[in-house]
Amino acid sequence: MSRRPAVLVLATRNRHKIDEMRVLLAGLGPVEIVGADAFPDAPEPEETGDTFAENARIKASAVARATRHHALADDSGICIDALGGRPGVLSARWAGPGSGASEWIARTLREMENVPDGERTARYVCALALAAPDGTILGETEATFEGRIARAPRGTGGFGYDPIFLLPDEDRTAGELTPNEKNALSHRGKAVRAALPLLRRHLRLP
Ligand code: IMP
Repeated sequence: MSRRPAVLVLATRNRHKIDEMRVLLAGLGPVEIVGADAFPDAPEPEETGDTFAENARIKASAVARATRHHALADDSGICIDALGGRPGVLSARWAGPGSGASEWIARTLREMENVPDGERTARYVCALALAAPDGTILGETEATFEGRIARAPRGTGGFGYDPIFLLPDEDRTAGELTPNEKNALSHRGKAVRAALPLLRRHLRLP
């Protein structure tokens, strides 16, 4: 008897994250991967956590319970050493509610104006949480992508802070990488690859 394919809901409405995660999850096998935007009634819970991991758990549980499917949530952001780790969990709200990438970049460059090259280190962090259809957290992963903050934006690839996120050993920003190059190095790429065994086990994939 053939089983219906498993369903995995990506607990985010961020198109860029959904696109990256779809590619990263492509090898998972017979599973239907849908974004939370396919469920207009699914909640968009407030990210009240102090950590990426806490926010990922909040989002995964809420979306799993609302859709009655397994849900995988990503909470991510950029932590800049010279700014004491900010914007961190506030990365998507760094220039006020409803602000966008050009405003986040402008504020970052302004605050970093007098920071010398050797002190411009930063890292992206991605926390993933997998929830069962009843909202129980089944597992979590977390990964980082180390880099430096550029002095001006470059490149049109990726999203968010990518045009000012310089790779550690080369003079290229994440905005100048192809999608495959970014996935090979990124916080999200590493966190999703680390989550694959967990996903296979809980979605009962071969
Ligand atoms: P979240 O929806 O609260 O997890 O917000 C994540 C925010 O962190 C995004 O809106 C971006 O500002 C930033 N961010 C996370 N991952 C990336 C990335 O891969 N590139 C650029 N910015 C990112």
